[in-house]
Formats: sequence, C-alpha cells, structure tokens
Amino acid sequence: MELRDCVDGLMGQARSDLAELVAIPSVADPRQYPAEECARAAQWVLDAFAAIGFTDAHLAETADGSQAVVGSRPCADPEAPTVLLYAHYDVQPPLDEEAWRTPPFELTEVGDRWYGRGTADCKGNIVMHLTALRALGDDVPVNLKLVVEGSEEQGTGGLEDFVPKHADLLRADAILVCDTGNAAVGHPAATVSLRGMVNVVVSVEALASEVHSGMFGGPAPDALAALIAILGTLRDSDGNTTVAGLENDQVWTGEVYPEDQFRSDAGVVEGASLLGSGAVSDMLWARPSLTTLGIDCPPVVGSAAAIPPTARARLNLRIPPGTEPAAAEKALREHLVAAAPWGVHVTVETEATGSPFRAETGGPAYRAIASAMEEAFGRPMVSLGQGGSIPLCNVFAETYPGAELILIGVEEPLALIHAPNESVHPQEIADMALAEALFLQRLSR
Ligand SMILES: [Zn+2]
Repeated sequence: MELRDCVDGLMGQARSDLAELVAIPSVADPRQYPAEECARAAQWVLDAFAAIGFTDAHLAETADGSQAVVGSRPCADPEAPTVLLYAHYDVQPPLDEEAWRTPPFELTEVGDRWYGRGTADCKGNIVMHLTALRALGDDVPVNLKLVVEGSEEQGTGGLEDFVPKHADLLRADAILVCDTGNAAVGHPAATVSLRGMVNVVVSVEALASEVHSGMFGGPAPDALAALIAILGTLRDSDGNTTVAGLENDQVWTGEVYPEDQFRSDAGVVEGASLLGSGAVSDMLWARPSLTTLGIDCPPVVGSAAAIPPTARARLNLRIPPGTEPAAAEKALREHLVAAAPWGVHVTVETEATGSPFRAETGGPAYRAIASAMEEAFGRPMVSLGQGGSIPLCNVFAETYPGAELILIGVEEPLALIHAPNESVHPQEIADMALAEALFLQRLSR
C-alpha cells in the first residue's frame, strides 16, 4: 500500500489515541494537578512506543522530578544513521476555563478541527510520531531513539539537565524536535531560528526616603522620573530597540510573517502601529527587542504626595542568532548605567541569560526533510523563525555538535497553543506523519 494510504487508514487510531492522551490533565505542577496525572501520561506514552518496537522503553527521572520516556529501536544496519524523536507529554494549564468553548480535557471535534488542551502542543506531535512509525511498520531503515519529556511547559529544565549527563543514551545524527509547526495549515515549514534572552533588574536610588512632593518637588531628584528617563532611551521614535552597541537593523531572509496576520495574532488594537523600521519578520526573528516586564513604584491606590526615593524595573531583552548573550548583557548593563540622569545611583542585576539558536540547514537530514515535506504537502518547505527560546535546542546543539536539529510539528498558528481553545487540524497530523515517514525512509539513502 502507498504510504499516504497507510497514514489515512491510521487516522482513526490517531484520533482515539489523541483523545486518550488529551483526557489526561498532565500539567506538570502538583499545586494545580495531582502528580499521578503526569505519571499516567508517561505510562501511556511508554506503552504506545513499546508496542511499536521500542522494547527497551523506560521512564527516566530528571532533576526536577519529572519522568522522561526514553527508548530506542535499532534497525538491521548498525551503520545506518540514528534519528532521535522528541516531544513532550506535559501540557499548559487550561487557564481561563470560562473562555473554553469545549471541555479542555476532552477531545472535541468542531468544524474541521479537534479541540482540547495539548491536541497540538505537544500530544498531537506524539501521535504524529506514532502514526508515522505505524505507517512504516517494520520498514524503518534508520536507528531510532526516543525521548518524550514531562516538564517542558514548566521551564524547570529537567531534560536540559538530563541530556548532557546521559549524552550517549540520546546521541543521534539527526534530532526531530517536534514542538513547533507549519506556517499555516498545509504550508510546510521548519523553524530554523530562535531568539535568546537577557533578563535584568535595574534599580534607581535618588533620595534617602520619601519626601513631600510640595515641600521638596522641583529640585529633589526623583527616582521614578529617572527610571522612566532611562527606559525611554531603550526605544527610538519608530519603536526600534536601541541598546547602545547592539545591532538592530538585521533582515530576515526566510518566510515572511504577513502584517495583517501578525496584527490579528497579537490582538493589536485598532489604530496602533507596529513597532520598528523593519518588516514584522525582521523585528520578530532577526532583531533584538526589549520589553519592560514590571516596574516597582508606588501603586495608584495608596500613593501619597511624596517623591519616590527608589524605583526598579525588570527588563527582558530578546536577542537574535548572531548576538552573544554575554555581549548583549554587557551592552545592556552599560547602556542603563550611562543613561541615568542627574547622578542618581543605578544598579543592574542580571537574572538570567539564554543563547539564541540557528539551525544548520545544509546537511543530509535537512535535504531529506525538505524533500519529504514537499512530497507530503505538494509545496516546498519554507523557513520560519520563532521570537522565543527553546533552551533544549541549545543543549542538544552543545551536546551533539555534529547532529542536525530539525524543528517541525503540528502547531501551526491557528492551533492557539498555550491559550484557551487550543486545537489541531487532523490533516496536519496526517501530512506531517507522512512527511516524517518519508524523511525516515530517505535519510538512510
Ligand atoms: Zn510544546
């Protein structure tokens, strides 16, 4: 039978599998959901992959207490390439349950999509892996490894810690990091660029304590006014991020993010302009951006007629591939100190930094996935960026410098991952499973 017909014939099972997985509220936070739910999801994944030849599949505890499902399935030719399949079984909490139009933990078909928490992120990708492998049956000409982690959404880093400590267990020539998605339904894409970040807290001190704004206001240095002046130097009048010493005119060369789609995805209010002098994809994927995440200052209710003696702000700087986190951190710290007016005291504390990521796209695995995607979807695969980070990609890249990382999956923009009313388009599962199966066949040649 043709591979495509095999996949189509397996979609009933894909749906019932996904329904079983979605019914398990595997939110990896015991304060919100019992830990047994994650244990049930892990066992479900283990059993499903054990049944298709991952006979050594087992649970591996990671540093944050979560369990990763790990396994392997060698092929007859030990010289054949090894492919590591990645996904995660934990999900985001449902958030505002009132905003859901269907029960979050019950797969529900509405129109042409399947709704439910995790239908796309990332249980849809687990079912994609299963469907691809079932379609291939015993005809898998590469060595397979598997890791399905249990704490991706919490950011507690269990697998990031585990990978370097068990490097041989997961070592592979190509890694399918299946936790992203296509440009749109039916428009195949690989994510090739992720931004890194620098988080700092900047504190301003100007007076020994509060003083009356009538008796002292005018000559007395005002910490909040100084902080606002400092923050004001971080954007120019077009809205470009302007950190002294950081390049901010890079251009994105992959698929374009249409402006009207971005406006609607981001919920930009009527009449507001998009920031920056570049296109959406330049601003989002190729250039730095700075966001003030929080400000400590007197809240409106309870504030008095007094000059704030101190103020502080928490800043998040996103940095594109090509910018080193250490260099960006240094530039940001020096900028903040230099921008302080009136000799007020400024201190900058770094909370965290993370590296950007750019996939190497010139190798045999990339050629194989590009040709597999084109055959499965009937149109060429494009390159996308992502404005956020996937720290695990940096860990994979550092631990396995020769491996090709391929970021794909069923989480296209309409999936609304992390939001209420998450859904997946079943045709994306079918087409991506077909692409994955074709990829595994082609990589061996
Ligand atoms: Zn995910």
